[in-house]
This record gives sequence, C-alpha cells and structure tokens, in this order.
Amino acid sequence: NADTALYKAKEAGRNRILYFNYEMKEAFEKQLMLEQGLRDAIKFNHFTLVFQPQYNLKTARTESLEALLRWHHPEWGMISPAEFIPVAEKSGNILVIGDWVLETAIREIKEIHHQYPYVTSVAINVSALQLREMDFIHRLKTLLKKYQVHPSLIEIEITESLFIDGGEELLQTLAKIQKMGVSIALDDFGTGYSSLNYLRILPINRVKIDQSFVQQMENDTRVQAIVKSVIDLSHNLGFIIVAEGVETKKQLNLLSSMETDVIQGFYYSKPLNKGQLQKFLDNDVTS
Ligand code: C2E
Ligand code: MG
Ligand code: MG
Ligand code: MG
Repeated sequence: NADTALYKAKEAGRNRILYFNYEMKEAFEKQLMLEQGLRDAIKFNHFTLVFQPQYNLKTARTESLEALLRWHHPEWGMISPAEFIPVAEKSGNILVIGDWVLETAIREIKEIHHQYPYVTSVAINVSALQLREMDFIHRLKTLLKKYQVHPSLIEIEITESLFIDGGEELLQTLAKIQKMGVSIALDDFGTGYSSLNYLRILPINRVKIDQSFVQQMENDTRVQAIVKSVIDLSHNLGFIIVAEGVETKKQLNLLSSMETDVIQGFYYSKPLNKGQLQKFLDNDVTS
C-alpha cells in the first residue's frame, strides 16, 4: 500500500527507488490535470456561484443564502468543490478563485436583496490562505464600496482548520472584519479539530453544526444529546445556530424542538442557480 511504498522510498535513501503504486500515480496525475484545469477555468470563466437558501425557523423566513462555487469543465463536466478546492489551496490558485467568489457574491447579493428585501445576507466560504495572503480587509472594503453593498449583507464562513498553524494574526483580521459589520460563521462545527476553545476565542456570530451530526441524529440518541448541548452552549454564548445538511422532516422536527435558529439542507432547498433562486423566492410562501 501507499504507506509501505513511502517507507521503502525513504529507507532507500540516496539510491532510492520510488515504489509508486497505481493509485498514487493516478492521484498525482489527477492532481496535475485539476491544477491545469483550474488555470483554464479562471481564464475562460468556467466558474459559477449557486446559492442555497437558509430558512430561519424563528422568523419563518428565508433570510439568508450560502454562496457555493461550481466548476463546469467543458469536457469533464461538473467537478465538486470538495475535490478542487483542496487542489486550488495547494497550488495557490485559491487566491484568484476566492477573489472571484468574493466579488461575484457581493455583486449578486446586491441584486437579490434589492429584489427580495427580506433576504438580508449571503454567506461566503473563505479559505485560510485568502485571509492570510491577500490584503483581505482592504479588498473586502473596496468591493463593498464598488457595489455599494452594506457590510451587514455579507457573512464570512471559516473553519477551525484555519487556526491549526498559529492564529493570532488571523484572529485580529477576523475581529476587524466583524467590526466592519460583516458577520462571521464557524462552519462544519464538530468535525476535525473542534475545540471548545474556539468558541471561547473566535469572533463569531454564527455556529454551523456539521451535517454529519445532523444526519446521524435520527437514530442515535447520543448524537442528539451532543447536538442539543452545542445548541444550548452556542445560545449561552450569544451565537446563532445554523444546522447544515438537513434532509428529512424528522431531522427538522428534532432540530426545531432543540431551538435551532436556522436550517440549511436539501429538505428545504438544494443550492440554486440565479434563475432557480428567483423562482424559489417568487414561490416562497414563507416570505
Ligand atoms: P460547506 O461550506 O460546508 O458547504 C455545504 C455543502 O453541503 C455544500 O456542498 C452543499 O451543497 C452541501 N449540502 C447542502 N445541503 C445538503 C444536504 O441536505 N445534504 C447533503 N448531503 N449535502 C448538502 P458543496 O457545494 O459541494 O461544497 C463542498 C465544500 O466545498 C463546502 O462545504 C466548502 O467547504 C467548499 N466550498 C464551496 N464553495 C466554496 C468557495 O467559494 N470557497 C471556498 N474556499 N470553499 C468552498
Ligand atoms: Mg460553508
Ligand atoms: Mg459546512
Ligand atoms: Mg464543509
């Protein structure tokens, strides 16, 4: 397997022979293909944004959206962000791509909010590299000014993995962003390196419970207890709770009984393109 191959390669030292196995070669070639593909995608504008409605259970309205990136390759078809975002982060392309996402989301929320005034925010996923490498705050301010968008219409989604390799500077950046009036959401909470300490130190407005918890809660009372505790804890800290990946009525009912503020998931709506979103909001009986 791959571990053995790497071990042998290390052991071999100067005269090493690399025991690439088939999967490693495949993965490597795929990575290169994706990297080249991403450069073309930037050049030829193969990216689009879709928007997933978030439903506020307390106000019974679609008050917010999450912007999600889509890459449509002319030959390969749709490629999932779960697959290409990590490649873009590794190759540095995420800076150009992330900037495109930021500008496009800001431009679009202006239009959407104008047409549907009860939709009052769009959440934008931002990677650590963007926050670190770009003059992110300056760029954000420039774009808000360019499109005459109020900061409260924007939410930045971050994950805890952001802080794994040191975070004092990032914390300050986030605090400044929040001070501008842009809100901050902690995405995928409960996975990876989740620590209660993040809830203590991060400047955030919302906590998004990861979809793996939501999907396991139906048949697992232990998961239910964890979710309930995360909701209560977040509320005690003054954060709004968003549950991600809600797919069934039963999940919705459980989350609702636990005082979840906002739900997002296929049960309510899939991510939608501009035209679909307009249809959805036009027919939205809740609004
Ligand atoms: P995320 O930010 O946690 O986004 C939620 C993901 O869950 C989205 O996948 C969404 O389509 C999916 N989802 C929503 N409701 C349901 C549901 O009910 N069931 C299931 N099974 N899935 C649901 P998507 O669009 O494939 O994005 C995957 C990840 O890629 C995102 O996870 C985010 O981490 C990253 N990503 C997407 N767009 C961007 C972007 O513009 N910039 C950055 N840096 N990352 C992005
Ligand atoms: Mg997200
Ligand atoms: Mg998430
Ligand atoms: Mg995720």
